Amino acid sequence: MSEPAPPRTAIVVGAGVVGLASAIALQARGVAVTLVGDEARWQRAASWGNAGHIATEQVAPLASWDNIRSLPRRLFSRGGPVALPPSALTAWAPFGLRLAAAASPARFAHGTTALKGLLADALPAWQRLLAAAGAPQLLGDDGHFIAWESAATAAHGRAAWAAADTGSASFRDVTADERAQLQALVRVPLAGAIRFAGSGRIRDIAALEQALRRHFAALGGVACPARVAGLTMGEGARVHLDDGRQLAADLAVVAAGVQSAALLAPLGFNLPLIAERGYHLEGDAPAWPADLPPVVFEDRSLIFTRFGHGLRAASITEFARPDTPADPRKWQRLAQHLGELGVSLSAPRQWMGARPTLPDYLPAIGLVRPALACAFGHQHLGLTLAAISAERLAAQVMGDVADLAAFAPDRFR
Ligand SMILES: Cc1cc2nc3c(=O)[nH]c(=O)nc-3n(C[C@H](O)[C@H](O)[C@H](O)COP(=O)(O)OP(=O)(O)OC[C@H]3O[C@@H](n4cnc5c(N)ncnc54)[C@H](O)[C@@H]3O)c2cc1C
Repeated sequence: MSEPAPPRTAIVVGAGVVGLASAIALQARGVAVTLVGDEARWQRAASWGNAGHIATEQVAPLASWDNIRSLPRRLFSRGGPVALPPSALTAWAPFGLRLAAAASPARFAHGTTALKGLLADALPAWQRLLAAAGAPQLLGDDGHFIAWESAATAAHGRAAWAAADTGSASFRDVTADERAQLQALVRVPLAGAIRFAGSGRIRDIAALEQALRRHFAALGGVACPARVAGLTMGEGARVHLDDGRQLAADLAVVAAGVQSAALLAPLGFNLPLIAERGYHLEGDAPAWPADLPPVVFEDRSLIFTRFGHGLRAASITEFARPDTPADPRKWQRLAQHLGELGVSLSAPRQWMGARPTLPDYLPAIGLVRPALACAFGHQHLGLTLAAISAERLAAQVMGDVADLAAFAPDRFR
């Protein structure tokens, strides 16, 4: 049987960072793309609220027995970042069972190999994308810091990173100057710190969205600020907007973050996608150096990132339903950490949003039918992986070799 012809037209559903990057990658390959997504929603999406870290070092999927074993001491109720709200039991309990299955040694090893392959080209893919978009300055490729507050956690944390596979990233102990610079940021004494190389950051998330949208438009892409109510498949794909309009194309790409599973369910896909909700506080903090790479306070599972629009402190993994109200205790916990560290944010803004996560902590990327593709489920690594996922997806769609077998969206059947 002959291969289907590459699509001439495509509709990308969802204008988060993965949808935007996918729309650009397809448009750049000559496909006429319509990107459907509400610009105003960017600030609610994980694509806005994340920590800006290009986390190339995180090659081990979070579906691991190490993570399962350490869960009790990482629970929010015990001062940690992981929240399992009783009201969402029917969401996280089945997800947890699938996660445990995905953490088997064989599946963990398979997932590590797959993620490592994707992460190895994540930073170069961002360099390519932002160079093409005329905004290379938005990418910082100067690594990140990890700091610890006690001798015991410093020794344990450093040893854990030394034993870990960190892919294309590497680390060293901080220099005396770097240590002094970190110490000047906080009032608690630091017991140790390391600096990664080969990881990176996005310097301004708001500017990133604008740069990607401009680039997409310059390539001839069409943005359609609307919500998608559903999809139907026939000769090609038909996308039904919630204002009653319909769009048709040779291909639909579902990149709607945590809403992707609901859009695909009527088409017969049962995807175990969960909302891993994270929280941040962001405000002005003139004392924090403008060009300092992200700093992780690992004892607190807290990351600080200096963006053009403020200093952001992000944490929390709350397994919940995407549309239930935020839990104010999570921001209180963040504020408590900031108080203890002595970091003050003026007029802090509160944000909560969902990481789209599948139980094996691998994304869903690729064609599932000749006229339907997926690009979602990027969990804690969606910013990191957006550009490389988009490149690989576009390659597969256009009939090139793209090693996406490990990310097959229908692998949970
Ligand atoms: C606190 C926090 C910190 C994080 N830190 C990092 C980090 O440092 N590095 C990293 O790599 N990752 C990080 N992440 C993860 C990363 O942000 C996500 O994996 C990534 O943003 C997912 O992008 P996305 O485009 O798939 O989904 P989203 O950002 O959720 O975007 C999906 C878009 O689709 C739209 N949409 C949904 N349904 C519809 C519909 N029916 N019609 C039209 N549009 C629709 C939504 O409105 C949204 O705009 C973090 C996440 C959080 C929450």
